[in-house]
Amino acid sequence: MADCLFCKIVAGEIPSTKIYEDEYVYAFADIAPQAPFHAIVIPKEHICCANKITSENSFLIGKVFEAIQKIAELENLEDGYRVVNNCGEKAGQTVFHIHFHLLARRDLGWPPG
Ligand code: 5GP
Ligand code: ZN
Repeated sequence: MADCLFCKIVAGEIPSTKIYEDEYVYAFADIAPQAPFHAIVIPKEHICCANKITSENSFLIGKVFEAIQKIAELENLEDGYRVVNNCGEKAGQTVFHIHFHLLARRDLGWPPG
């Protein structure tokens, strides 16, 4: 989608530090990490937010979580990790291409606040 930051990252038009890639999913290092390990995991296809998941595109979210398992293994996140999705401005979503924050390598408090 034109003018989508993460679509441009997938297309290589904006540089990123790749962590993982397959046919459906791209993962890259967050530019402002909130933990020692902070990846952004996205479907390559543009979906704006969790509210726009449909029966046609929901398989892509499954692909994202399959990728997260692989990243956890590749990156030795055996102590655990957190997956965060912000949906909507009031929840903190700033980039409107659905994405999952994958955070690890520090104590992650609960509740998250
Ligand atoms: P949100 O606030 O929408 O849930 O998360 C957007 C995330 O994208 C933020 O954690 C932010 O640091 C990250 N981000 C924003 N712009 C860029 C960029 O140009 N490159 C990378 N690697 N991450 C970005
Ligand atoms: Zn996009």
